[in-house]
Amino acid sequence: MILKWLCMSTKFVMPEFIGNDQLVKTTNNETLKYLNLDNAATTPAFKVIAKKLDAFLETYGSIHRGSGYKSQISTAIFEEAIPVILQYIGVSPSSYALIATHNTTSAINKLTRMLGITEHDTIFLSEFEHSANDLPWRKGPQIIRIPADEAGVFDMNFYEDALKNCRVSGKKIVAISGASSITGAITPIHEIAKLAHSYGANIMVDAAQLVAHREIKLMGNNTGEEIDFISFSGHKMYAPYGGGVLIGRREIFEKMTPDDIGGGSVDFVTHDSYDLSQNFFKRVTAGTPNVLGLISIALSCVMLKKNIGFNFISNHEQAILDRMKEKLPSLNSVRTYCDLSYDANKKCSILTFSIENVHPNLVAARLGHEFGIGVRQGAICQFSYVAKLLGLDASAIQKARHSLLAGQGENMFGIVRASFGLNNEPQDVDRLLEALSEIATSPSKTEKYYFNKNGEYWPQGKPEINASTFYKV
Ligand code: PMP
Repeated sequence: MILKWLCMSTKFVMPEFIGNDQLVKTTNNETLKYLNLDNAATTPAFKVIAKKLDAFLETYGSIHRGSGYKSQISTAIFEEAIPVILQYIGVSPSSYALIATHNTTSAINKLTRMLGITEHDTIFLSEFEHSANDLPWRKGPQIIRIPADEAGVFDMNFYEDALKNCRVSGKKIVAISGASSITGAITPIHEIAKLAHSYGANIMVDAAQLVAHREIKLMGNNTGEEIDFISFSGHKMYAPYGGGVLIGRREIFEKMTPDDIGGGSVDFVTHDSYDLSQNFFKRVTAGTPNVLGLISIALSCVMLKKNIGFNFISNHEQAILDRMKEKLPSLNSVRTYCDLSYDANKKCSILTFSIENVHPNLVAARLGHEFGIGVRQGAICQFSYVAKLLGLDASAIQKARHSLLAGQGENMFGIVRASFGLNNEPQDVDRLLEALSEIATSPSKTEKYYFNKNGEYWPQGKPEINASTFYKV
């Protein structure tokens, strides 16, 4: 179905998404249109990009490794992806360089290796960092965690004091998400960058959540506000085939030693020595990269910025947020964990919540099996921040941890996250809230579910999914 939208008095036709008309059979024996409210995890792919990539496969060949027709075309298309992606975030290839990665997680891991983080360094992380932007930094440096309140607002005073009082001789890096995957709150990255630079620190933005929601202008508006490094993934921006990027200021990147070496990253090799490539992109690209992934990200950049536009995206999310604000107060048993008074300039269209006396995993399972709605549940890769939102003390957290490690996930804490994207409409909020209202008022249905070995609630009697037939080709 083509979604029709009115955008600033001109008629705008939303591009199609693959699978937006997917039907699902519920345990109530209904056939419903699947409602994807899990866009903060992975977005559906733009149909036009998949078609374009299908066409690309006709001339698909090795990149940087052949003189044949297909190699030449593939190399040219692949290389052109880089300026297109840089343009998306408002920078040029002369000042910023790009490294193709598997995803955001691998981009951040790579950066920590290339920076050569040691125990002499200090890393400033917010309290709401995703594990992807937390665990890779735990390589011995001092970690200072900047608190955030329940709405996901970064404590700027604490941060400035921490920078002021940090007198280490090593590197100082501020690593912060551009938008929280829990509250949806948008981080003032340029304000944070300005302070970081004024105290001799560099800044890395994990833009996995922000990238498809608001325009990123990497340079900011004033000197000192520029972001030194940024990472994001294709699968969160309607781009199929995975892939991610790590982008950084060329003058810093160029001085770093690549962490991976191998074919493609060298100009000359003997049995005893090798010369790293003089070309930066080749030097940091050992082995054949995910060609389709990078091209797909570049195509998505064009779709989001040029064809759809960030004004539209922001207005679209505002309409969804308005619908939440209007309808949620009528649901007494739903407790939210994000500030719904925020407008789209401060928050992405994410709703995190729990239902009184119903385990979050069960809420999510029931939404999926009974109502055909896909959401995410649990600690959502942010164990400590979710525990804080839930008001858990240290002993409750440890108790949950022990239960989980003992295979009793039923006792693990969590929340439920419904995350909306361009594939959604404001009416989808109504469908979610109607389902929540039913779940809140029919807790007796819970005995129809059991907790399975995958740590999920599963309806009694429903066969588990068998994927083996997929591989009959
Ligand atoms: N950072 C944030 C804020 C995220 O939401 C995610 C994905 N949930 C990641 C990093 C990790 O992204 P990826 O799985 O693509 O590595």
